[in-house]
Amino acid sequence: MEPDEDLDVESLPRGGYRCRLCLLQVANRPSLEDHLRGKKHRKLAEVRARRKSQEEKSVFVSGFRRDTSELELSEYFQSFGPVCSVVMDKEKGVYAIVELQDETVLQMVLAQPQHCMDGQKLRVKPRQKKEFKYIPPKKQGAARGQELSLDKLSQALCLCSDVDEQMKQVVTLFQFSENERKLRELLVTLLQEVFSEFFPGCEVLPFGSSVNSFDVHGCDLDLFLDLEHTQTFQASTRKPQEEEDKDRAALDSRSEDSILSDVDLESATVPEILELVAAVLCQCVPGVYGVQALTAARLPVVKFQHKESTLQGDISINNRLAFCNTRLLQVYAEMDERVRPLVYTLRYWAKQKELAGNPFGGGPLLNNYALTLLVLFFLQTRNPPILPAVSQLKKLAGDGEKSVVDGWDCSFPRDPAKLEPSSNMESLCSVLADFFRVFADYNFAGAVISLREGQALSPKDALAAENCGGLKLGALNVQDPFELGHNVAGNVNEKTALRFQSCCRDAAKYCRSLQYQRKSCKGKAWGLVRLFQRGDGPEASRTDEDPAAEDGLVISLPSPLQILTEEQSRDLCGTESLQQLCFQKVCIALHFVLQDVLKCIVSQDEDRESMVVDAEEPVPLDEEPCVGAKRRMVEGGALVPDSKRQRRDAVASKEEKVSWHCAVWHRVWLGRRKMRRELQRRAGAGTCQSADSLQAEAEVTEALAQRESGSRPAQPLLTFRVCILRTGATAQDCRTNLHFTPLQDPVALFQDFFHFVQIFLPKTVARYIQKHELDSLVGATERLGQEMDF
Ligand code: ATP
Ligand code: MG
Repeated sequence: MEPDEDLDVESLPRGGYRCRLCLLQVANRPSLEDHLRGKKHRKLAEVRARRKSQEEKSVFVSGFRRDTSELELSEYFQSFGPVCSVVMDKEKGVYAIVELQDETVLQMVLAQPQHCMDGQKLRVKPRQKKEFKYIPPKKQGAARGQELSLDKLSQALCLCSDVDEQMKQVVTLFQFSENERKLRELLVTLLQEVFSEFFPGCEVLPFGSSVNSFDVHGCDLDLFLDLEHTQTFQASTRKPQEEEDKDRAALDSRSEDSILSDVDLESATVPEILELVAAVLCQCVPGVYGVQALTAARLPVVKFQHKESTLQGDISINNRLAFCNTRLLQVYAEMDERVRPLVYTLRYWAKQKELAGNPFGGGPLLNNYALTLLVLFFLQTRNPPILPAVSQLKKLAGDGEKSVVDGWDCSFPRDPAKLEPSSNMESLCSVLADFFRVFADYNFAGAVISLREGQALSPKDALAAENCGGLKLGALNVQDPFELGHNVAGNVNEKTALRFQSCCRDAAKYCRSLQYQRKSCKGKAWGLVRLFQRGDGPEASRTDEDPAAEDGLVISLPSPLQILTEEQSRDLCGTESLQQLCFQKVCIALHFVLQDVLKCIVSQDEDRESMVVDAEEPVPLDEEPCVGAKRRMVEGGALVPDSKRQRRDAVASKEEKVSWHCAVWHRVWLGRRKMRRELQRRAGAGTCQSADSLQAEAEVTEALAQRESGSRPAQPLLTFRVCILRTGATAQDCRTNLHFTPLQDPVALFQDFFHFVQIFLPKTVARYIQKHELDSLVGATERLGQEMDF
C-alpha cells in the first residue's frame, strides 16, 4: 500500500509524517517507508489485527455467582460451539470475557434470549469495541522511576529557605546520580570495544547533555563516532566473546550476504557508513535494539535503544562541531556557579510551559541546546557580565587550545579555573527575575543573538559577516557560537516566539510579587513552585485579592437553579437575592458533604479574610466538633439539617466568599468504589445499603475509616483551606467556585484527595440540594417572585 493511502499515516507540514499506530513522527518519506517496513510497525499492526478479531468473536458476561470458575463458564458456552478462552476480571466474579471460536458461534450465543447457568440469570452482550491504542514504554527516566513528579518537586522546593536555595535544589534533583553517570560510561566503553573491532582506531565520544554539565535523569546519550584515524572498515566476523560462541553458527550461515565486507571509508558516503554503524549495533552489541539509521536528517544519525540501561542513544559521524560546543558549555558552566541552577530552572520552566523540548522531525519548540545558549547569552549581557563573550575567550586560548573545525574557529581555553571570575554579585533569585524581564519585551525577530560577540547584532550585520550569508533568519535568531552561519533556533515559528515572550511577561510580573521572593509561612506555594505550574496561564494574574486561587486547585459547582423548573427559574433569574440564596444553599450542602459524608472536621478559617456563611447571624461552624453529632436521623436513615442550620438557612448570606479550614482523617478515596460495592453486596443484591444515597456514602466513609484504623487517629492525614466564591459575574450566574489550598500534607496525599473530590463534590452537593433544599429554594424563589411583583 502507498504510504499516502495508509490510514495510519498522517502528513505533517514540511514533509514530515506521523504514524498514528506507533505514535511517532518521522522527518521525511524515506524514513516513513523505513518505519512502515520496520519490525515495530509490523508487530503492532499484527497485535491490533489480533485484538480486533478477538473482540469480534467475544462476549461480555456478568450476573454469575461470585465463586463461578472459568471452567464452569467455558462449559456453559461450549453448548453453543467451541470456546477459545475465558478471562475473568481481577476480583474474580464480577464479569468475564468469553472468546468464542468464530462469529457463527457468537451469533448463536447472542441469539439466545435468556441465558441461565446454575439457576443464575446471566447477562450476555457483545464485547465493547475499543480502539486499539499503543501505549509506548515510558521514557527511560520514568521507567526507572526517576522522573520527578511536579508534586514531589514542589514539596522539596517549598522546604527550601529562599529562591536561591530552590534553584540549587532543582539541579540536585535533576542531575545524574553517580550510578547513572557510571552506567553511561560503561555503555560507552562497550560501544568503543565493539566499534574498535570494525573501525580500528575509531573513538566513541559522548557529547550533549550527558557530558555538557546540563545532564538530567534519562536524557539521551549523544555519541560522536570519530573515524578520523580509521581508513578501512574491517572485514571482521568477531564479536564480543560472550556473543561469539552463541551466534557463531548463525553468523556463518549469513556470511554470504553479510554486511561485514571491506569498505573503503575514504570513498564511502555518510549514509553508507551509517548503515554499517547500524548493522554493527544490531548484530554485535549485546542489549541493543530499535536501531534506525536516519540518513536523510540535517545531521544524519543512527538511533538505538539499550535494554539493560534503558538508555536511548544517537550516534553521528560528522558532528565534530557539536563535540566542541559541548566542551564550551562545560567551560561556561564551571566558570560561574550560577550557570547550572539558572539553566536547569529555565529548562524546567520552559518544559512546563511547553516552550522547549526536543522536537523530533523539526517541531517549532526551542530545543534544549538553543535555550541553553539563550541563557548563556543573557549572562554575557549582564552588567557587569557574568560570563565573557566567545570572542573574548578566543583571545585567552593557549597554543594547544586553538582549533579550526569544519572551517570555523573553535579556539577557547579548556580549563575554566584559569579564567577570571565575574565581579557581578547578583543573587540567583534576581538574575532569574531579570531573565524574564529582559526577554518579556525582546525584539527576537529583529535581532541576531550572538554569543560570539556577547551582544545582539542587526540581521544585516550578522548576514554580512564572513561565511554567514546562509544564516537562516526567523522568529528567533540564536547564532551558534562556532558555526556562525547556523541559527540554532531556526525551527522556532512566530507563534512559539510570541508565546515565549508572553510567558516571560507573566513570569516577570510574578517575580515582582512577594509570593516569588519570600517563603510562605502559611504553607502556600511560593518561589519557583508557582513558576513551574503547567501551561501558560498567567502566574501573576492571580492576585492577592483571591488568596486561595493558586495552583489551579479549583472545582466549579453548577448553579443550584438547574434543579428548578424552567418556569421557576425564569421568573426569578437575575435577582440579587436569588444569587445569595443559591450561594447559601451550596455552602450548606458542601458543609454537609465534607463533614457528614466525608467525615472531615470543618471549621471556620481563622484567616481574617474569610467570612461566615450567614453574615447576619454568624454560627461558628466549629461548634459541631463531632461528625454528624448534631444531625437528626429520621425514618429511612436520611440525614436532615439541624436547628442551627435551619436558622442559618432562614437568612440569606450577604457575602460572596466563605473560607473554611478542613481536616481529613482517613483515605476516604482509597478503594471507595470497591467498598461501596461490598456494602451493597452485603445488604443484598440489587439494593443499596441505605435508601438515601448520601447516607450510603457516609456509610462507605465510615467503613473505610474502620478498615484503616478503627478510631480517629491523633493527627489528621491532611488539612486544607477551601474558599467558596460566587463566580457570578452577572446576576443570572449562580455558579460557585471552590478554591483549595493544601495546608498540612505531611505524606503528600493532597493531590489524591483533590482528584477524588473533583468528581465527588459536584455530584453529592447537587444531590444534597435536590433532596433537602429543593423545597426551600422553590419556596424562597416564589416568595421573592411575589415581592418583585409587588
Ligand atoms: P537534551 O538531550 O537533554 O535535550 P542536549 O544538549 O543533549 O539536551 P540534543 O538535542 O540531544 O540536546 O543535542 C545534543 C548536542 O548536539 C547539543 O548539546 C549540541 O551540542 C548539539 N546540537 C543540538 N542541536 C543543535 C543545533 N540546532 N545546532 C548545533 N548544535 C546542536
Ligand atoms: Mg541529548
